[in-house]
Amino acid sequence: METRARFAPSPTGALHIGGGHTALFNWLWARRTGGKFILRIEDTDRARSTAEYEETIMSGMTWLGLDWDEGPDKGGPRGPYRQSERLDLYREHAERLTAEGKAYRAEGAILFRVLPDVDLSFDDIVYGRIETKSDGLKDRESEGLKDIVLIKSDGMPTYNYAVVIDDHLMEITHVIRGEDHISNTPKQLLLYGAFGWKPPRFAHLPMILGKDKKKLSKRHGATSVYEFRDMGYMPDSVFNFLALLGWSAGEDREIFDRREASALFELSRVTRKPAVFDPDKLNFINQEHLKRLDPMARLELVKPFWRELGLPVGGHDDAYLAGALTLMGGRGQTAKELAGFSDYYVSFEPVKERWTAEGVPDGLRPGLREFFAALLAEPEWAAEKLEARARAWVEEKGAKMKDYAMTLRFALTGMKVSPGIFEVAALLGRGEVRRRLEFYGLC
Ligand code: GLU
Repeated sequence: METRARFAPSPTGALHIGGGHTALFNWLWARRTGGKFILRIEDTDRARSTAEYEETIMSGMTWLGLDWDEGPDKGGPRGPYRQSERLDLYREHAERLTAEGKAYRAEGAILFRVLPDVDLSFDDIVYGRIETKSDGLKDRESEGLKDIVLIKSDGMPTYNYAVVIDDHLMEITHVIRGEDHISNTPKQLLLYGAFGWKPPRFAHLPMILGKDKKKLSKRHGATSVYEFRDMGYMPDSVFNFLALLGWSAGEDREIFDRREASALFELSRVTRKPAVFDPDKLNFINQEHLKRLDPMARLELVKPFWRELGLPVGGHDDAYLAGALTLMGGRGQTAKELAGFSDYYVSFEPVKERWTAEGVPDGLRPGLREFFAALLAEPEWAAEKLEARARAWVEEKGAKMKDYAMTLRFALTGMKVSPGIFEVAALLGRGEVRRRLEFYGLC
């Protein structure tokens, strides 16, 4: 039987880490098994659901690379895929239960009659056997059995009811969702039973905690998928990171792409242990992905952050800028950090802001001017040539390379650390190096 997994967000907010995590595990399972991944919008809370949120959730999924096969925008054989467009289906099915005496009307609502002693146990793929009986569905006050509202007096279905109708009619084979829904599952099973339908398999995913072991929330910093994008994280790394929350690819395999993950994914290997959201780990993963990118792809990621810094990106050709990022090697944990570390290739302005040359001892200045003049006179403007020239010069003068190279580094980058300074000089070009040294009165 073909796997049909679904992600069923309510469009009442952006795509958060928890939602992205659930969507991703459904996607992984559908792709792993060659099945279908369905997007269903649960917008029955009319007051809080908006078209904008629906749009943000979809674009957040797209950003993460979680493509769906059926959904409100795409259609499909089991639609419509928005609950607000399925109200007739909910009503008809509730009427069927009413006609069979399993449900009844009260104060404009339709309620399901809960009978005692119904076995509602199930085998969760992640949590194992969960034993429950309908007797557990108690009313908190009266301690008696609490009937389940199917359709509220405003005509809207409740979550526990609509989800059963939809999962059944959409032929969902695997319900993969957060463990906070374990407690809803018995109610849903009761309704499957009442309709005489075979329930899907359930796989509940562990909770995501912050480093302080408290449930992940705004207090822990960024929570929406887009905030990670805006901070300079790559979709590939957020994907990689989320996939590792509650699952492991085995053999300490930490870095992988979507294709690799979907080839290795096993629902049965998802852990019950709460997963801890560790920002350091995300940084590590992002840096690893950033390193593996080819220069042009890396350039496209960094450009927006250079622009955000007000740097004249358009004033340079892509080959030059990509060359700069290649020179940066594995530096920077995020595209944003890398953009900040490499601003001096794009403009001299930030260098001037960082370094004034005031600290250069007067005694050193004549020597520096002589040294830089020798460098600028080098006929072949290439890193090895510049370095050889510099070495020969300091050796001849009995000077310390460190003093000279350090000043050059400050004058060109405004920073204490950078890639090999002769390589930086070679890339910047003779004219630009001269301009920067002249500005500081060093040549
Ligand atoms: N709309 C529900 C939620 O956002 C879906 C839960 C489910 O997957 O059954 O939590």
